Amino acid sequence: MKESERLLHSLVAGKISRIGQLEISPSEGGFILCHREDVGRTDLKNYEIDDALEVAKFDDARSYRPLKTAPTLRHGWKIFARDLLQVERVIEAIYPGRLAVLHAFKSGQVTTTSLRETLNRQSGIYRVARKISEQEIDGLVGDFCRSDGGCLRTILWKRDASDKIPSSKLPSEKFDPAVDQYLSPKKLRSAAAATESIPLLCQEACNLLVAACRDAVKTEGAAPSAP
Ligand code: SF4
Repeated sequence: MKESERLLHSLVAGKISRIGQLEISPSEGGFILCHREDVGRTDLKNYEIDDALEVAKFDDARSYRPLKTAPTLRHGWKIFARDLLQVERVIEAIYPGRLAVLHAFKSGQVTTTSLRETLNRQSGIYRVARKISEQEIDGLVGDFCRSDGGCLRTILWKRDASDKIPSSKLPSEKFDPAVDQYLSPKKLRSAAAATESIPLLCQEACNLLVAACRDAVKTEGAAPSAP
């Protein structure tokens, strides 16, 4: 059994069967995976394991989802998985790489990279992103990464080598792997933490955030100077 499969096995056995917006329910001869808001619906369309990538690609309005951990997973589908290996394949298609990072985190081997370090190593057209100001980072990260409408990952990285938090605009729950990021904007911390789920961890800033930092610097440079 692979490490990620073993981890999934222990999580599901412990009745932790939610990851992001995904619900994993035991079913006759296997498991059913669907959007967690669709549990109990009888009109869900059946998809195959190999369709999971397609499911993850577009939201309910058929708009492309560039960020797979955005809280925009589409509704109306279900996938039957006969074993945990197949469950893992569906999770991997919907939330790529997250089980591996979780395994590294649980075994104390996760490596994080600060935002400044990520920005400083950019080259080419993204090199300019390193010029972003502290104030812009605070606002941009607070908006871009927020669980309510931005991204469901729990942030593990810091802003810089001084261990500064990425944004003062984000609640402390955003940095706590014990909190269900799907519920945290809707409920009190205690309620969100009590409903256990598998966290989607963010070990370093994604390309989309880097691109947004670059755009912020470019926009600032293009702004007309004050008279
Ligand atoms: S940097 Fe991490 S938390 Fe922020 S949007 Fe990207 S993946 Fe999500």
